[in-house]
Amino acid sequence: MKIICHGGAGHTPKVQDGVDKAAEEGWKILKETDNPTLAATAATIIMEDDFRFNAGTGSCLRDDGRVQNDAAVATSDGRMGAITNLQDFKNPVLVARELLDEFVTMLAGEGAIEFALKKGFKQTKVKGSEKGWTGDTVGAVAQSSDGKIAVASSTGGVRGRPVGRVGDTPLWGSGFYCDESIGILATGVGEAITEQLMCYRVYQHSKNLEKALEWGVKLLPKDTGVGIIAIRNDGQIYGTSNTSMPLKIIED
Ligand code: ASP
Repeated sequence: MKIICHGGAGHTPKVQDGVDKAAEEGWKILKETDNPTLAATAATIIMEDDFRFNAGTGSCLRDDGRVQNDAAVATSDGRMGAITNLQDFKNPVLVARELLDEFVTMLAGEGAIEFALKKGFKQTKVKGSEKGWTGDTVGAVAQSSDGKIAVASSTGGVRGRPVGRVGDTPLWGSGFYCDESIGILATGVGEAITEQLMCYRVYQHSKNLEKALEWGVKLLPKDTGVGIIAIRNDGQIYGTSNTSMPLKIIED
């Protein structure tokens, strides 16, 4: 069993305690259930509920002052769910998780809101935060005792970007990737990560996980913040960034 959590490429060790808490909660759920999807989302929720992170309650603001969230969940048995431009839900990652068992894999804006309401989530004003530069997306990758993997990611996006802007976080292959061999998440400047199809390309190089992630980070210029975390099904686990991204690994 393993879990790795990150607090965003734009964050610093100042929020390490929040990432530690998320990993500990995810680990607790993993031990109880041996379910990597529940564990990765439980860890992500802890950070969505922590105002210091750019996700859920502490999300950064769009250029008109509103909060719009992106989130994604994917599993090594071939399921995925992603939402983008979801407005006024406390835990967007839970809405994305609901899509795992639907035919539709991704919902945006109004459709995402309707889906969330139909699934019983409460729409409630998310105030967001004026602080933070951008890259403080949160996420977790977890692996069960029999090697199943899940990834979960959530973000308020990038401060000051226009309403309707879609970053990498909800985009399959860019901000997240998961199959029976690997689970990968990215954080950082979404436009640059998307242009590089970051997570999928890291997967293609992932025979040596550490080298692949270091290679992935170098796809972007040094001054463009990016971080990547991953678990391979043979148990390799690694995270890196070109910033001081806080991360936490727990494994047995
Ligand atoms: N990747 C996110 C986005 O561009 C930002 C972040 O990592 O905080 O939407």
